[in-house]
Amino acid sequence: MSFAELKNNRAVAAQLKPLLQSGKLVHAFLFVGGKESRLQMGKALAEAILCESPEDGDACGSCLSCRKFSHGNHEDYLYVDLETAPGNAKTQIGVDAVEALQEQLKLKPFGKRHAAVIEEAHLLNTAAQNKLLKTLEEPAGDSVLILLAEKREALLPTVVSRCSTYYLEEDSEAPDEEMLQLAKDFLAVCAQRPLFFPRRDCLKPLLEEKNDPRAKASAFLACLQMLMRDALLYPYGAKTSPLSDGWDAFGMICEKMDRDALNRAIAAAEEAGRSVRLGYNTGYTLKKLCLDL
Ligand SMILES: [Zn+2]
Repeated sequence: MSFAELKNNRAVAAQLKPLLQSGKLVHAFLFVGGKESRLQMGKALAEAILCESPEDGDACGSCLSCRKFSHGNHEDYLYVDLETAPGNAKTQIGVDAVEALQEQLKLKPFGKRHAAVIEEAHLLNTAAQNKLLKTLEEPAGDSVLILLAEKREALLPTVVSRCSTYYLEEDSEAPDEEMLQLAKDFLAVCAQRPLFFPRRDCLKPLLEEKNDPRAKASAFLACLQMLMRDALLYPYGAKTSPLSDGWDAFGMICEKMDRDALNRAIAAAEEAGRSVRLGYNTGYTLKKLCLDL
Protein backbone atom coordinates (compact mmCIF):
# COMPACT_ATOMS: atom_id res chain seq x y z
CA MET A 1 0.00 0.00 0.00
CA SER A 2 1.78 3.14 -1.20
CA PHE A 3 0.46 6.69 -0.97
CA ALA A 4 -0.18 6.50 -4.71
CA GLU A 5 -2.60 3.63 -4.14
CA LEU A 6 -4.72 5.47 -1.57
CA LYS A 7 -8.35 5.77 -2.53
CA ASN A 8 -8.87 8.92 -0.49
CA ASN A 9 -6.93 11.25 1.79
CA ARG A 10 -4.58 12.26 -0.99
CA ALA A 11 -4.27 15.68 0.64
CA VAL A 12 -2.82 14.18 3.80
CA ALA A 13 -0.44 12.08 1.72
CA ALA A 14 0.63 15.27 -0.04
CA GLN A 15 1.56 16.76 3.35
CA LEU A 16 3.48 13.67 4.43
CA LYS A 17 5.58 13.08 1.33
CA PRO A 18 7.75 16.22 1.71
CA LEU A 19 8.49 15.17 5.31
CA LEU A 20 9.70 11.79 4.10
CA GLN A 21 11.73 13.40 1.31
CA SER A 22 13.40 15.84 3.66
CA GLY A 23 14.19 13.09 6.16
CA LYS A 24 12.75 15.33 8.88
CA LEU A 25 10.32 12.76 10.16
CA VAL A 26 8.75 13.18 13.54
CA HIS A 27 8.76 10.12 15.77
CA ALA A 28 5.05 9.87 16.37
CA PHE A 29 2.04 10.32 14.13
CA LEU A 30 -1.62 10.22 15.00
CA PHE A 31 -4.20 9.64 12.29
CA VAL A 32 -7.80 10.21 13.29
CA GLY A 33 -10.55 8.90 11.07
CA GLY A 34 -12.63 5.97 9.86
CA LYS A 35 -11.19 2.47 10.15
CA GLU A 36 -10.49 1.87 6.49
CA SER A 37 -9.04 5.34 5.92
CA ARG A 38 -6.73 5.27 8.90
CA LEU A 39 -5.50 1.71 8.26
CA GLN A 40 -4.62 2.52 4.66
CA MET A 41 -2.84 5.71 5.68
CA GLY A 42 -0.95 4.00 8.50
CA LYS A 43 0.26 1.24 6.23
CA ALA A 44 1.18 3.61 3.41
CA LEU A 45 3.27 5.71 5.78
CA ALA A 46 4.93 2.67 7.36
CA GLU A 47 5.82 1.23 3.98
CA ALA A 48 7.26 4.55 2.81
CA ILE A 49 9.27 4.90 6.02
CA LEU A 50 10.74 1.42 5.64
CA CYS A 51 11.33 1.55 1.87
CA GLU A 52 15.00 1.27 0.84
CA SER A 53 14.73 3.55 -2.17
CA PRO A 54 11.70 5.82 -1.78
CA GLU A 55 10.63 7.86 -4.78
CA ASP A 56 9.24 11.36 -4.15
CA GLY A 57 8.55 10.46 -0.54
CA ASP A 58 6.56 7.37 -1.45
CA ALA A 59 7.39 3.67 -1.24
CA CYS A 60 8.97 2.34 -4.43
CA GLY A 61 6.97 -0.88 -4.32
CA SER A 62 9.80 -3.00 -5.68
CA CYS A 63 12.72 -3.03 -3.22
CA LEU A 64 13.20 -5.94 -0.83
CA SER A 65 11.60 -3.96 2.00
CA CYS A 66 8.51 -3.09 -0.05
CA ARG A 67 8.16 -6.70 -1.21
CA LYS A 68 8.38 -7.96 2.35
CA PHE A 69 5.88 -5.33 3.41
CA SER A 70 3.36 -6.32 0.77
CA HIS A 71 3.80 -9.99 1.71
CA GLY A 72 3.09 -9.11 5.32
CA ASN A 73 6.41 -10.41 6.64
CA HIS A 74 8.50 -7.31 7.22
CA GLU A 75 10.59 -7.80 10.35
CA ASP A 76 10.75 -4.09 11.14
CA TYR A 77 7.02 -3.49 10.83
CA LEU A 78 5.26 -3.88 14.17
CA TYR A 79 1.52 -3.88 14.54
CA VAL A 80 -0.75 -3.75 17.58
CA ASP A 81 -4.53 -3.75 17.75
CA LEU A 82 -7.24 -5.00 20.08
CA GLU A 83 -7.37 -8.40 18.39
CA THR A 84 -3.64 -9.09 18.66
CA ALA A 85 -3.08 -7.42 22.05
CA PRO A 86 -2.20 -9.79 24.88
CA GLY A 87 -4.64 -10.14 27.75
CA ASN A 88 -8.19 -11.31 28.03
CA ALA A 89 -10.01 -8.03 28.36
CA LYS A 90 -11.14 -7.62 24.79
CA THR A 91 -12.64 -4.20 25.15
CA GLN A 92 -9.44 -2.27 25.67
CA ILE A 93 -5.74 -2.48 24.88
CA GLY A 94 -3.84 -2.78 28.13
CA VAL A 95 -0.41 -1.96 29.41
CA ASP A 96 0.99 -5.42 28.56
CA ALA A 97 0.47 -4.73 24.85
CA VAL A 98 2.49 -1.53 25.13
CA GLU A 99 5.22 -3.30 27.10
CA ALA A 100 5.45 -6.04 24.48
CA LEU A 101 5.79 -3.39 21.78
CA GLN A 102 8.46 -1.57 23.74
CA GLU A 103 10.46 -4.81 24.06
CA GLN A 104 10.29 -5.31 20.28
CA LEU A 105 11.37 -1.73 19.67
CA LYS A 106 14.46 -2.26 21.81
CA LEU A 107 15.73 -4.95 19.42
CA LYS A 108 17.99 -3.86 16.63
CA PRO A 109 16.01 -3.46 13.41
CA PHE A 110 16.98 -5.43 10.29
CA GLY A 111 16.92 -2.27 8.22
CA LYS A 112 17.24 1.37 9.24
CA ARG A 113 14.42 1.50 11.74
CA HIS A 114 11.20 0.07 13.07
CA ALA A 115 7.80 1.38 12.07
CA ALA A 116 5.09 0.52 14.58
CA VAL A 117 1.38 0.93 13.98
CA ILE A 118 -1.02 1.00 16.91
CA GLU A 119 -4.49 0.54 15.46
CA GLU A 120 -7.50 1.34 17.66
CA ALA A 121 -5.32 3.61 19.79
CA HIS A 122 -8.58 5.01 21.17
CA LEU A 123 -8.96 1.68 22.99
CA LEU A 124 -5.65 1.98 24.83
CA ASN A 125 -6.56 2.26 28.50
CA THR A 126 -5.14 5.04 30.63
CA ALA A 127 -2.32 2.93 32.07
CA ALA A 128 -1.33 1.82 28.56
CA GLN A 129 -1.36 5.40 27.30
CA ASN A 130 0.77 6.55 30.20
CA LYS A 131 3.17 3.69 29.55
CA LEU A 132 3.40 4.76 25.92
CA LEU A 133 4.40 8.35 26.73
CA LYS A 134 8.08 7.61 27.16
CA THR A 135 8.24 5.77 23.84
CA LEU A 136 6.45 8.62 22.09
CA GLU A 137 8.95 11.04 23.50
CA GLU A 138 12.13 9.07 22.95
CA PRO A 139 11.51 6.10 20.70
CA ALA A 140 14.27 3.52 20.54
CA GLY A 141 16.67 4.22 17.68
CA ASP A 142 15.08 5.90 14.72
CA SER A 143 11.77 4.15 15.08
CA VAL A 144 8.49 5.80 14.16
CA LEU A 145 5.19 5.22 15.94
CA ILE A 146 1.93 5.57 14.07
CA LEU A 147 -1.21 5.78 16.17
CA LEU A 148 -4.54 5.21 14.47
CA ALA A 149 -7.69 6.28 16.26
CA GLU A 150 -11.34 6.79 15.70
CA LYS A 151 -11.54 9.79 18.01
CA ARG A 152 -8.82 12.03 19.29
CA GLU A 153 -10.79 12.72 22.46
CA ALA A 154 -10.21 9.14 23.66
CA LEU A 155 -6.49 9.86 23.97
CA LEU A 156 -4.80 11.66 26.84
CA PRO A 157 -3.74 15.22 26.00
CA THR A 158 -0.20 14.19 26.92
CA VAL A 159 -0.30 11.50 24.23
CA VAL A 160 -1.81 13.79 21.60
CA SER A 161 0.68 16.56 22.27
CA ARG A 162 3.56 14.21 21.49
CA CYS A 163 2.13 13.23 18.10
CA SER A 164 1.84 14.98 14.81
CA THR A 165 -1.91 14.74 14.23
CA TYR A 166 -3.72 14.39 10.91
CA TYR A 167 -7.46 14.15 10.39
CA LEU A 168 -8.62 11.79 7.71
CA GLU A 169 -11.77 11.67 5.68
CA GLU A 170 -14.33 9.34 7.09
CA ASP A 171 -14.83 6.01 5.39
CA SER A 172 -17.28 6.42 2.57
CA GLU A 173 -20.34 5.82 4.67
CA ALA A 174 -23.26 7.93 3.47
CA PRO A 175 -23.88 10.75 5.95
CA ASP A 176 -27.36 11.80 7.05
CA GLU A 177 -28.26 14.20 4.21
CA GLU A 178 -30.50 16.38 6.33
CA MET A 179 -27.86 16.76 9.05
CA LEU A 180 -25.12 17.34 6.48
CA GLN A 181 -27.09 20.25 5.05
CA LEU A 182 -27.71 21.65 8.52
CA ALA A 183 -24.00 21.35 9.35
CA LYS A 184 -23.15 23.24 6.15
CA ASP A 185 -25.63 26.01 6.97
CA PHE A 186 -24.39 26.22 10.53
CA LEU A 187 -20.74 26.41 9.56
CA ALA A 188 -21.49 29.15 7.05
CA VAL A 189 -23.31 31.16 9.73
CA CYS A 190 -20.49 30.60 12.23
CA ALA A 191 -17.80 31.68 9.78
CA GLN A 192 -19.66 34.88 8.95
CA ARG A 193 -21.23 35.86 12.23
CA PRO A 194 -19.52 35.60 15.59
CA LEU A 195 -22.81 36.02 17.43
CA PHE A 196 -24.73 33.53 19.50
CA PHE A 197 -28.30 34.15 18.34
CA PRO A 198 -27.94 33.67 14.58
CA ARG A 199 -26.02 30.49 15.32
CA ARG A 200 -28.64 29.20 17.71
CA ASP A 201 -31.45 30.09 15.29
CA CYS A 202 -29.72 28.07 12.62
CA LEU A 203 -29.85 25.01 14.89
CA LYS A 204 -33.56 25.45 15.58
CA PRO A 205 -34.61 22.29 13.70
CA LEU A 206 -32.22 20.30 15.86
CA LEU A 207 -33.12 22.06 19.12
CA GLU A 208 -36.81 21.42 18.48
CA GLU A 209 -36.28 17.82 17.41
CA LYS A 210 -38.60 15.56 19.38
CA ASN A 211 -37.83 12.27 17.72
CA ASP A 212 -34.49 11.00 19.11
CA PRO A 213 -32.68 14.37 19.42
CA ARG A 214 -29.55 12.60 20.65
CA ALA A 215 -29.08 10.55 17.47
CA LYS A 216 -29.76 13.60 15.31
CA ALA A 217 -27.32 15.73 17.30
CA SER A 218 -24.65 13.03 16.99
CA ALA A 219 -25.15 12.82 13.23
CA PHE A 220 -25.03 16.62 12.98
CA LEU A 221 -21.81 16.85 15.00
CA ALA A 222 -20.19 14.11 12.93
CA CYS A 223 -21.04 15.98 9.71
CA LEU A 224 -19.75 19.22 11.20
CA GLN A 225 -16.43 17.63 12.05
CA MET A 226 -16.09 16.08 8.60
CA LEU A 227 -16.70 19.42 6.91
CA MET A 228 -14.16 21.20 9.10
CA ARG A 229 -11.58 18.49 8.44
CA ASP A 230 -12.14 19.05 4.75
CA ALA A 231 -11.52 22.75 5.31
CA LEU A 232 -8.27 21.92 7.12
CA LEU A 233 -7.08 19.99 4.07
CA TYR A 234 -8.20 22.61 1.60
CA PRO A 235 -5.17 24.94 1.80
CA TYR A 236 -2.98 22.09 0.65
CA GLY A 237 -4.48 22.37 -2.79
CA ALA A 238 -6.24 19.11 -2.30
CA LYS A 239 -9.40 18.05 -3.90
CA THR A 240 -12.14 18.25 -1.34
CA SER A 241 -14.11 15.20 -0.38
CA PRO A 242 -17.50 14.51 -1.97
CA LEU A 243 -19.02 16.03 1.17
CA SER A 244 -17.98 19.58 0.45
CA ASP A 245 -17.70 19.27 -3.31
CA GLY A 246 -19.96 21.77 -5.03
CA TRP A 247 -20.78 23.57 -1.80
CA ASP A 248 -20.77 27.31 -2.49
CA ALA A 249 -19.82 28.54 0.97
CA PHE A 250 -16.85 26.21 1.35
CA GLY A 251 -14.27 28.64 -0.07
CA MET A 252 -15.57 31.41 2.18
CA ILE A 253 -15.26 29.20 5.24
CA CYS A 254 -11.71 28.22 4.38
CA GLU A 255 -10.91 31.91 4.02
CA LYS A 256 -12.54 33.03 7.25
CA MET A 257 -11.33 30.22 9.46
CA ASP A 258 -7.59 29.67 9.68
CA ARG A 259 -5.90 26.47 10.79
CA ASP A 260 -5.96 27.37 14.48
CA ALA A 261 -9.61 28.37 14.37
CA LEU A 262 -10.51 25.13 12.62
CA ASN A 263 -8.53 23.01 15.07
CA ARG A 264 -10.24 24.74 17.97
CA ALA A 265 -13.65 24.34 16.34
CA ILE A 266 -13.02 20.62 15.68
CA ALA A 267 -12.04 20.15 19.32
CA ALA A 268 -15.24 21.95 20.39
CA ALA A 269 -17.36 19.74 18.13
CA GLU A 270 -15.60 16.61 19.46
CA GLU A 271 -16.26 17.78 23.00
CA ALA A 272 -19.94 18.33 22.15
CA GLY A 273 -20.11 14.85 20.61
CA ARG A 274 -18.72 13.36 23.79
CA SER A 275 -21.23 15.29 25.93
CA VAL A 276 -24.11 14.00 23.80
CA ARG A 277 -22.84 10.42 24.10
CA LEU A 278 -22.43 10.81 27.84
CA GLY A 279 -26.09 11.76 28.04
CA TYR A 280 -25.80 15.50 28.72
CA ASN A 281 -28.73 17.65 27.69
CA THR A 282 -28.60 17.95 23.90
CA GLY A 283 -30.03 21.47 23.80
CA TYR A 284 -27.56 22.73 26.34
CA THR A 285 -24.66 21.04 24.55
CA LEU A 286 -25.58 22.56 21.19
CA LYS A 287 -26.02 26.03 22.64
CA LYS A 288 -22.64 25.73 24.31
CA LEU A 289 -21.20 24.78 20.92
CA CYS A 290 -22.66 27.99 19.46
CA LEU A 291 -20.62 29.91 22.01
CA ASP A 292 -17.47 27.81 21.69
CA LEU A 293 -17.14 27.73 17.92
ZN1 LIG B 1 10.73 0.25 -1.63
